[in-house]
Amino acid sequence: MKIINIQTEVKHIPLKTPFITALRRVENIEFVRVSITCKNGLVGIGEAPATKAITGEGIEDILDSIESVKSTLNHHSPQNALERLHENRQTDHPICLIGNSARASLDMALLSLIAQSENMPLYQYFGAEDAVHLQTDVTISLNTPQVMLEDARAACENNMDILKVKLGADIKHAIEVIQSISKELPAAKILVDANQAWSVQNCLHFIDKVKDCEIELIEQPVIAGDLEGLKIITEYSDIPILADEAVFTLEDAQKVIETASADMINIKLMKCGGVIKAIEILEYCKSNNVTCMLGSMLEGPTSINIALHLAMAYSDVIKYIDLDSPLLYKEMSDELEFIFEGKDIEYIGKD
Ligand SMILES: [Mg+2]
Repeated sequence: MKIINIQTEVKHIPLKTPFITALRRVENIEFVRVSITCKNGLVGIGEAPATKAITGEGIEDILDSIESVKSTLNHHSPQNALERLHENRQTDHPICLIGNSARASLDMALLSLIAQSENMPLYQYFGAEDAVHLQTDVTISLNTPQVMLEDARAACENNMDILKVKLGADIKHAIEVIQSISKELPAAKILVDANQAWSVQNCLHFIDKVKDCEIELIEQPVIAGDLEGLKIITEYSDIPILADEAVFTLEDAQKVIETASADMINIKLMKCGGVIKAIEILEYCKSNNVTCMLGSMLEGPTSINIALHLAMAYSDVIKYIDLDSPLLYKEMSDELEFIFEGKDIEYIGKD
């Protein structure tokens, strides 16, 4: 079973409403889809979205990266190609230079080929015996407190009551938003995501002001590089602190956990370089009794499918799932292997 062709195409999915965080505003999901074909006819698909503001990779970067490693992966078996993709050679070989999102898309396509060749759904290949019922949060975009409360209310009415609330630098606004959502929607689970917008001082002030609100966690309050600041907040806070932008790789996760700078880790395939790398972080967290969020960028259906398969296999470590992209699509995709009914996600398999 040898790889004979690696092809890319650029795809777009319109969103119901713009997605707004402290870092960016998005109206269409744009991603590269890579298809890897083997001589026996099997095709594996992977995807990588453009998230220049976070991973540094735009569409052109991802296309160029994939192009640059085609000859390294072609004519190998998917298993060999996967090993080559993740090989740790400290050289200027193209395989070492590609971005983590491009690497993740190739990793997904290769794993999908390997699982197909073994006649297994991916979750079984990842180690789960049976499909597991999952639940995702849903994003409440940054807006005026009134609009955010209305969005949160509408989400709860549609069985999406795990709310990832995006907050910005204005700490007064942040406090008002969380106090009003917590008061008006007491059954909602509130996950706060500041996307690095706060100072340590502002974050401690926020924590004091929302102490009567039930909050599940606070995600990446301060700038990614400020682990000392993150640690001060983690020591001060009774609310668990989740590191997101501060953790891309296993080494980042180890640093955060060893220094006790955060309580939890948000793993995203596009940050770490694919499923193989995500599993290394999950195993590390599992052995250190650290729970995780499995998150995503705004992504296409194939990369969300694969992340959900991984979530089924690691449901003991993954406490929160932030894979709500399909809920934000203007129309539900028929390429999903899962049904989304509000926050509830069930595996239905391929057509
Ligand atoms: Mg985040």
